[in-house]
Amino acid sequence: MLATLRRLPYEGAMRGDSFPHPSLERSHMARRNKIYEGKAKILYEGPEPGTIVQYFKDDATAFNAQKKDVIEGKGVLNNRLSEFFMTGLNQIGVPTHFIRRLNMREQLVRACEIIPLEVIVRNFAAGSLSKRLGIEEGTQLPRPIVEYCFKNDELGDPLVTEEHIAAFGWASQQDMDDILSLALRVNDYMSGLMYGVGIKLIDFKIEIGRVYENDYPRLIVADEISPDSCRLWDIETGKKLDKDVFRRDLGSLTDAYSEVARRLGVIPKTANVVKPTLIN
Ligand code: 5GP
Repeated sequence: MLATLRRLPYEGAMRGDSFPHPSLERSHMARRNKIYEGKAKILYEGPEPGTIVQYFKDDATAFNAQKKDVIEGKGVLNNRLSEFFMTGLNQIGVPTHFIRRLNMREQLVRACEIIPLEVIVRNFAAGSLSKRLGIEEGTQLPRPIVEYCFKNDELGDPLVTEEHIAAFGWASQQDMDDILSLALRVNDYMSGLMYGVGIKLIDFKIEIGRVYENDYPRLIVADEISPDSCRLWDIETGKKLDKDVFRRDLGSLTDAYSEVARRLGVIPKTANVVKPTLIN
């Protein structure tokens, strides 16, 4: 079985991975202490204090989990793509939680206190902004707009202002200055990277964590950066290459995510469209 898997087009991309057989991966995971299971990821205690293993599931959810499916291959692609983006950010001096990828579905990250906000940066109108303000999707915004949502599934992650954030003590004024600066740096990095491969970064969501270094708090980019949390449109055709493909039933999500991964060189250009059963 393993020998068969290793001959696939994916081999080049995965060389050096531990490539666990699904049953081995599961039994290995069973020995770990699960800390938290979210909609798209599971967090396990890491091998050393201050570390966490982040496991990428194939589950896709939208509209606050009212729409659900399992898209085989999604977790593997998001693990690779998030590794790629976070590594690049670390290299240009934008601190992130990413330490290293462990295997096809797992990465080792720094443990941090997650600030209970979704930080959204928009370059072009789309999604909830278009609905809220009646602006046609795709309209270029006069400047990047940063929005904050309170992370709360029961409430559907409502939009909040800095007044709410300060009044309820979710983040200090210093934190908010740092969060804005991180969000805009991620936006510049991601926009340029995507532009280079013919993709427009419409908007994205990041989460921010707090770590302590020599007792001093420091904010870092946490969670994941992947087509699950960005809107990515082909510059030429406007084709959607992100989770809207799932939200709006526009075709194969793994085809869209593989296209992004191929253009960025994260999987080989020659790799066929991901065959879900072959990469698990
Ligand atoms: P919108 O507010 O238009 O629905 O989303 C704006 C951007 O943030 C989109 O790129 C969307 O994918 C991302 N986003 C917003 N909320 C969530 C969320 O709960 N999970 C994920 N993965 N992305 C989100």
